[in-house]
Amino acid sequence: DEARVTQGLIVSYAEEFERNYVRRLAIISELKKALVTQQSELSLCYQPKLNLNTNKVDHAEALIRWNSSQLGFVPPDEFIAIAEQAGLINQVTQWVINAVIDDVVTLREHDVRLSIAINLSAKDIVDPHLLSNVTDKLKEFDLPHDCLSFEITESDIVSDPKKAVAELQRFRDAGFSLAIDDFGTGYSSLTYLKSLPVTELKIDKSFVLKLNTQRSDQQIVQTILHLAKSFNLDVVAEGVEDKASLTLLREWGCKWGQGYYICKPAPLSQLISWYTDNLATDWTT
Ligand code: C2E
Ligand code: MG
Ligand code: MG
Ligand code: MG
Repeated sequence: DEARVTQGLIVSYAEEFERNYVRRLAIISELKKALVTQQSELSLCYQPKLNLNTNKVDHAEALIRWNSSQLGFVPPDEFIAIAEQAGLINQVTQWVINAVIDDVVTLREHDVRLSIAINLSAKDIVDPHLLSNVTDKLKEFDLPHDCLSFEITESDIVSDPKKAVAELQRFRDAGFSLAIDDFGTGYSSLTYLKSLPVTELKIDKSFVLKLNTQRSDQQIVQTILHLAKSFNLDVVAEGVEDKASLTLLREWGCKWGQGYYICKPAPLSQLISWYTDNLATDWTT
């Protein structure tokens, strides 16, 4: 009996391994197609960041979406990691950058002055062409550098912090703000935090989602806010799902809040109408 159970486990393990393997290969080949001939499968959603000092929405984050004709909707958490391993991430990021800059032009045509944050992977910051492509394209459209900023996850920095410091400095020298994304999950040492040329910490949503009720999360968030203050960094809290959490963050001096309570990620046209509809919203009441 025991043998049969073990055998069953091995069979199901092998089946799952094969399923994952097949899925991975399918994602790689379909993503290659999407990047070259089927770019309409890719799109962007934008999620606003509410400035808690001014009570105004002044930034939004670009989040990629992939609706594959073969695989259906594939979440970014799944395909971005595979794109990184398969050497496709630089192409994905280049697509995102071009699409964001086009959208910034549209936003300005609608009088929406939002600075847009773009997520970068470790392999993007070492790409020698990425930064010059960005600055060239901004110049082409006569856009200032503060209409874009970048986010890089803490785990990507931790994998090679010395290199990250040097590469991120190039982005700062070019005048872009930089945030450490998913902060609190990547075990960065204080030594590197001190030397990292970044302007913002973005608290991971796992500490924010239940902020209103979890005492331990409250302590973690307050600790990060103190740390950021002593390093002179601004803080964004992602994953704000209720009003009480937003109120706590404001009381504690967190600069920006982002989350479903404020607005879910939305396509550009919806972002524009949401922004216009909420120009007079008093988020403090
Ligand atoms: P991220 O950059 O940390 O983005 C935050 C994620 O949390 C987004 O998921 C967003 O939709 C979700 N979120 C925002 N507010 C809330 C909330 O209140 N509650 C909950 N439960 N979730 C919330 P999404 O769009 O699925 O993206 C997942 C991750 O995929 C991103 O995490 C980022 O690491 C990566 N990603 C997305 N777009 C891009 C991209 O263009 N380039 C790169 N390199 N990575 C991207
Ligand atoms: Mg992000
Ligand atoms: Mg994050
Ligand atoms: Mg994340």
